[in-house]
Amino acid sequence: MVASSYNVTLEINLMGANMAEDKIPWMCHICDHRSTFGEGIVCSECYKLTCNEHMTTATVLNTDTGLYELKKICVECQFRKTLNQ
Ligand SMILES: [Zn+2]
Ligand SMILES: [Zn+2]
Repeated sequence: MVASSYNVTLEINLMGANMAEDKIPWMCHICDHRSTFGEGIVCSECYKLTCNEHMTTATVLNTDTGLYELKKICVECQFRKTLNQ
């Protein structure tokens, strides 16, 4: 009797922990796409979460090393860069 009730309590606790983990949603700041599945990619320029579709890879000059690096930036930041050029 005692053992079975202990098991039930443990099961509920585990379920609660899983649900809490699933409840962390991320949202793409461009299309407002919300998802709790997987995780968004953080733009290396504006540090905002971006979905796969609005994330691009750009070649950015690192002024510290003088080398070009591949960076994942969102389409918004990429657009801003093309305007500045
Ligand atoms: Zn998006
Ligand atoms: Zn960005």
